[in-house]
Parts: sequence; structure tokens; C-alpha cells
Amino acid sequence: MRGKLVVGNWKMHGNLATNMALLQAVRDGAVELRSGAALCVPYPYLAQARSVLEGSNVAWGAQDVSEHDSGAWTGEVSGAMLADFGCRYVIVGHSERRSFFGDSDAVTAAKFLAARRAGLTPILCVGETLEEREAGITGDIVTRQIDAVLSASGMAAFADAVVAYEPVWAIGTGRTASPAQAQEVHAMIRTRFSDESAVIGSQLRILYGGSVKPGNAAEIFAQPDIDGGLIGGASLVAADFLAICAAA
Ligand code: PEP
Repeated sequence: MRGKLVVGNWKMHGNLATNMALLQAVRDGAVELRSGAALCVPYPYLAQARSVLEGSNVAWGAQDVSEHDSGAWTGEVSGAMLADFGCRYVIVGHSERRSFFGDSDAVTAAKFLAARRAGLTPILCVGETLEEREAGITGDIVTRQIDAVLSASGMAAFADAVVAYEPVWAIGTGRTASPAQAQEVHAMIRTRFSDESAVIGSQLRILYGGSVKPGNAAEIFAQPDIDGGLIGGASLVAADFLAICAAA
């Protein structure tokens, strides 16, 4: 049985004072949760996240990782550095990285591998743009994004990894994929893995992301192949994030 998981992606928001209030509220509210919960915070606040969340029900992680392990890569942060700060998770291939920072399928695959080398659990984001959905090529796009990683990493690297289906048109827009639309893509993703490994396919946690809110979370998470959510905007409000976790 796959456990549900809800991961907050703070993006580039917060400061020491606002984070402290948010981290403490989520930590305290998570005591009774039955789903897994994690917060992916900006790099400078990883130590703060660890100091507040260590020993709690809430894991923490980062929003990106270098494809390199160490060396002359000014501005980059390695997987080992994230592990040093107790991170369990790292997001790779978020659509904002892909569209604004040029993270190609190949770079995303390299980041996925770097995360695995450091013992981190990668959360691989995939998803189509509105144009691609309207052109009827959602399946092709998502399959291409997954296959780019699979061909570099092999199937075994997906044991206990996480995939997040995030239709680009639903991220931060207030538009959500309908539960049926999301389930259709999630089922397709699971089949892609199950075709090669029934065990990995059945155990893979596939999160949905894109304008999940307390009011729509339960219906989305009730779909058979949706194992929780990757939450942007609503993860910045403790009560909303906890309500979404409770819905899982
Ligand atoms: C995200 O950033 O991954 C995301 C899903 O954002 P939002 O929940 O705000 O749409």
C-alpha cells in the first residue's frame, strides 16, 4: 500500500521571521497527520527548517540540485550539501526550472542522478503546457520527460522515488486539472513504469501539483493513482497546507 505524501514548494518566498512562524505551525499541526509531509524551502533556510522540523512528522528538502557533485560550479549546490542539512527530498525538473532556467530533459535526468548519488529522494516533475494539452500530445510530452530520466538512470533508480505530475497550465494559475484529467495522466505514468517493473510501478508515489487548495484536495487525492500533492501557493499558509495534508 502506497502511503500518501504532501510536499510544499515554497519557491522563492519567506524570510527568517515568517518562515519560523510557518515551520512551527506546520510542525505542531502535523502531529496527528497520517500522510507523509515535507517542505521544500529555499537553500538559505535549510538549516532553519532542520532546526524546527528535526524529530517531527515533517521532512524537508530543496527545490533544485546541481547535476555536479563538487568543483568549480559557482552558485551551484550539490546533493551532498543538501544531505548535510538533513534533506530527504529534492525537486528536479520543476516547470519553472525547465522554462525559465533552461533545465532540459537531459539536465533534469542528470540532476535526478545527482540526487540519487547523494542518497536523496528526487521528486521528478513532469507536465505539459496548455498548448501541448490542446494539441492532444500530453501523453507524448510526459512520456518523453520520464523516458529521458529512465534511460539515464535505469528503472531501479525509481525505487522509492517520487514523480509529480504538474500540468504547467495549472501551476499558480488557479486552474486545476479535473480529478479525471489528472487520474488519466497518473494512470498512464504508472503504466509506463509497471510495464517494465510491476513492483516499482505499484509502489511509485505519483503526486499531483497545480493549484491544489483545501477545497479541492480531497477529491483529487481520492483518485486511485494520485498519491498526494506537490503544493505551491497553499504551502505558504500553514492552515491551508495542513488541511491539504489532512485531506490526504
Ligand atoms: C508548484 O509550484 O509546484 C505548484 C503546484 O504551485 P501551485 O500549487 O501554486 O499551483
